[in-house]
Amino acid sequence: MALFVLVLGLILTAAFAWKTEHNTEARAASEFALVCNEIIAKISSRLHTHAQLLRSGSSFFAASDTITRNEWRKFHDHEQIEKNLPGIQGVGFSLIVPKPKLKEHIMNIMKEGFPDYTVWPAGNRDVYTTIIYLEPFVGRNLRAFGYDMYAEPIRRKAMEHARDYDVASLSGKVILVQETGQNVQSGVLMYVPVYRNDMPLNTIPERRAAIAGWVYSPYRMNDLMVGILGRWDSTGNNRIHLQIYDNVAICANTLLFDSQHNDNLKNQASPERTLIAPIDFNGSKWTLCFSRPESSFQYYKGNFTVVLIGGIVISFLLGGLTLSTSKLKNRVHIADLLTAEVKESNEKYKQLSIQFESILDHIPALVFYKDKSNNFIHVNKYFAQAQGKEKAELEGKNLTDIYPAEDAEKYYHDDLSVIRSGVAKLNIEEPWVTTEGTKYVNTFKIPFIDIAGNIMGVIGLSIDITDRKNAENEIRKLNDTLEERVQERTSQLETTNRELAFHIKEIEQFTFIASHDLQEPLLTLSNFSKLIQEEYAGKLDDVGNRSIEFISGAAERMKSLVKGLLDYSLLGKEQVMTMVDCNKTVNEIILEMAALIKASHTEITTQELPVVFGFENELKILFGNLIINALKFTRKEVAMKVKISAECHEKEFIFTVADNGIGIEEKDKENIFIIFRRMHNRNEYGGIGVGLAQCKKIVELHSGKIWVESTPGSGSSFIFTIPKQ
Ligand code: ADP
Repeated sequence: MALFVLVLGLILTAAFAWKTEHNTEARAASEFALVCNEIIAKISSRLHTHAQLLRSGSSFFAASDTITRNEWRKFHDHEQIEKNLPGIQGVGFSLIVPKPKLKEHIMNIMKEGFPDYTVWPAGNRDVYTTIIYLEPFVGRNLRAFGYDMYAEPIRRKAMEHARDYDVASLSGKVILVQETGQNVQSGVLMYVPVYRNDMPLNTIPERRAAIAGWVYSPYRMNDLMVGILGRWDSTGNNRIHLQIYDNVAICANTLLFDSQHNDNLKNQASPERTLIAPIDFNGSKWTLCFSRPESSFQYYKGNFTVVLIGGIVISFLLGGLTLSTSKLKNRVHIADLLTAEVKESNEKYKQLSIQFESILDHIPALVFYKDKSNNFIHVNKYFAQAQGKEKAELEGKNLTDIYPAEDAEKYYHDDLSVIRSGVAKLNIEEPWVTTEGTKYVNTFKIPFIDIAGNIMGVIGLSIDITDRKNAENEIRKLNDTLEERVQERTSQLETTNRELAFHIKEIEQFTFIASHDLQEPLLTLSNFSKLIQEEYAGKLDDVGNRSIEFISGAAERMKSLVKGLLDYSLLGKEQVMTMVDCNKTVNEIILEMAALIKASHTEITTQELPVVFGFENELKILFGNLIINALKFTRKEVAMKVKISAECHEKEFIFTVADNGIGIEEKDKENIFIIFRRMHNRNEYGGIGVGLAQCKKIVELHSGKIWVESTPGSGSSFIFTIPKQ
């Protein structure tokens, strides 16, 4: 484009130079056209620069959800607008306020220190807009505060155009509300839309839905043109009369600017010395009408060289100007791209924040961030619930606002050590005050570090260990009393044992005395019944004889029972334990019972038996009772076999006396060891039921055990153990 302008300028210069030679008036006209083009370019360029400024303001809003009055002032001051863009009336922001929120909005602005603030003009409208910021906020600009530009059709049209197409839009001709009545000038306004951050903007309906307000500038046309052009037409001879009209109609109503409005040196321009050129700014049109006096622009009369050189220079200047204009457009484009990038990053940041927040809230632990001054920056849901509060209620609060002073000081002490040292503190077990009472937590505190590596505060994570702590306390308490309780129990057992030993002794004594003392009257009874039988033989009738026989038999059985009882009670009494060779003991018994064994045709086999440490007599009674029983409880149909054997184990000897007799029912296996318990009728198998009870007592005297294994009808094995020394 710049090249095009340059080439065009050079062609025009050549043509103009040539024409200068031939037509002075035509040359003057060309010169006039060049100057006009320069002016057009200047105006167009400045409008785009203003649009760029407003775009920056819009981006400023896009980068943040809320912009304060102070921040807007800083933005304005930072841009140095008066210095860089003279003629601009101000840079403002017009906010959209829906009807239901109007009252609340007015109250909020009043609270900022503007008690007279209101949105004007008054009236019932669905949507209000209000100029809430306009910098510099002094002088005539104060008059625009709260003005609803959207209520005015000309401004509204430009606002809607900017909103629908996301462009900078110029309004038609208006009288600014800043006008005071003196030196009233025509005005125009430029608008750039501000959309809400989180909404799509691809279509007109989407942009309408997203609109939040407009960044805008009001211009007083005279001030603006002086700012753009300076005193460009001051040289008397070449005065150019410039009139700018809104849109394409050239009439008094649409006149925006007249460079000689208050000038009594007006030129009488003719149509030949008039140049009309349009400026199109994003769809808004201005018509520029230049005119010059008859004798103007004739410097170059007859001076071909001067015209040629001047034209070339001007062409280069115009090319340069066009180049810088296109660069400016590029910058605008880059700014737009940057704005889009900022929006995208904001979006991603929001997404990440939501995910992170969700993770924190689902960790079954208390999580908090604090700054260096002990204020909570952030807490998770679990933490807030434990305090019976919402997260927002805790954020920004100081530790001392939440916990009792003593606890807060302790917590802060740990925080400070982490902040100062930069080293994490782990596994701090500490009490934790909650609305449900004091609990216990295991806390990890780590430094909270920013991107630059500076320590900003502390991040804490606390796990509830109340259950474990309570269990530990319980165990500790139990341990503390354990020894005491063991001693108490031991002494109870000792007492019980002593009492038990005493009672056993008593019973043994009673058994011995009873069985011993019963012998004498029994003997008397037996002797006298025998005497009666002998003395009164033949004198008593049958009943008398049978009665005497019963008495005599019962007395005999009684004697046997008492003797058995006495023998039982005497077992182990006043005996000394010695080494007993069981082979010898068993052989003696077999010898003593030789007749019985022979008569019953019993085959007795004996294996090698051990030498044990025990009571010699008692062991003989033990083996004797078992062998007698084996000989007694036999089956008539089989040849009797008795086998006596022993096994040597690590700690004991295990003896077995086995027979092939009648066997023992499962239900009787325990009962047969109880004294006087018999499983058979005495007419069938004789006996008094003392033998196995003696065996049990003897084995237990040696700290052993006795039991029977048997299959009824096949035989029995009596097994007992005798511990080694
Ligand atoms: P007694 O032999 O005087 O009846 P014991 O105490 O020796 O008393 O035996 C108790 C009971 O055990 C016996 O009445 C008998 O029923 C049963 N018994 C003992 N030894 C044997 C055995 N070798 N075979 C079968 N039954 C037996």
